[in-house]
Amino acid sequence: MPDRIYNFSPGPATLPREVLAQAAKDIVNYNDKGIGLIELSHRSKEFMAVAEETEALLRELLNVPDNYKVLFLQGGASTQFAMIPMNLLGPGKKATYLNTGTWAKKAIKEANIIASADVAYSSEDSSFNHVPAQSDYTVDPESEYLYFVSNNTIYGTQFHTFPETDKMLVCDMSSDILSRRIDINPFGIIFAGAQKNMGPAGATVVIIREDLLDRTPDSIPTMLRYKTHADKGSMFNTPPCFAIYAIGLVLKWLKKMGGVSALEEMNREKASLLYQAIDATDFIKGHARKDSRSMMNITFNLPSSELEDQFIEEGLAKGLDGLKGHRSIGGIRASIYNAFPRQGVLDLIEFMKEFEQKNG
Ligand SMILES: *Cc1c(COP(=O)(O)O)cnc(C)c1O
Repeated sequence: MPDRIYNFSPGPATLPREVLAQAAKDIVNYNDKGIGLIELSHRSKEFMAVAEETEALLRELLNVPDNYKVLFLQGGASTQFAMIPMNLLGPGKKATYLNTGTWAKKAIKEANIIASADVAYSSEDSSFNHVPAQSDYTVDPESEYLYFVSNNTIYGTQFHTFPETDKMLVCDMSSDILSRRIDINPFGIIFAGAQKNMGPAGATVVIIREDLLDRTPDSIPTMLRYKTHADKGSMFNTPPCFAIYAIGLVLKWLKKMGGVSALEEMNREKASLLYQAIDATDFIKGHARKDSRSMMNITFNLPSSELEDQFIEEGLAKGLDGLKGHRSIGGIRASIYNAFPRQGVLDLIEFMKEFEQKNG
């Protein structure tokens, strides 16, 4: 087996090699203290320092304003689908949602369990191949917030400009957080599961405006209240220690690479190389409409599902792993998050050309 393959998996996803090597060492003996990282008490001064550093780096790299809390929670991004309406929508309240794919739909379902979701736009009829333009929907004046998914991991679409509305924005940034510069100020809540672009599975980052912490109805249980976690610096109970530590390593790597704006340039270049290869031939068809193309997840189809299976199998033999599209749309998906190397993109493009020559 080769020492390392190119992992195009949508998540858990590829991480920087040096992060894996450092984690492997620290798990056995953290900072030469004779104790493994994942054996440390979360209340120990060693781990408290790790958690503080991770939060400080995230604040620095994303330019998080002082009136926002940064939380590290468990339960995955999926738990946020329910926690958001639980905390922000009291009885009889509603919020507006943009239905741009599977993850948006799941969030809408949860919002309707707790309160009421006003779905102002859906691209479902066109297999979620685009995200709406500003003029495509209106936000109900009674809505508490406008919810959207910045990058639709499964369909390979992305908002290139964020919605503009006088309501606060709430956003699932699971698959593109830290991939481009953003202005946090229009957002009430941004959340992201770590396992796409930030670290290993196990932690969900929530960035929440402080004034929202006091809106939660009394009926909501302790663990599901943002304030519980905000008041205790994400240490109300045992936090996802390893994930927080590993996110910290990824953030240090990101900073060393030049920060979010440097990564944004690299991501843009990697994605455009791949889209150019897609556009250069009729053999391959991109799934996303051009104006909605994701820089993170590039989705495309070959002329038949048999050819797609063959492509995935032959790709794997060449060390190109994780290219199978999500079961809901099939086809091919290349996930190329921050840590995915440019060379892997070049290798995939070469393989695409070779494959077309043999089978086109
Ligand atoms: C993967 C993903 C999720 C689900 O994340 P979990 O942590 O598995 O709950 C939610 N939203 C988006 C955009 C995703 O890509």
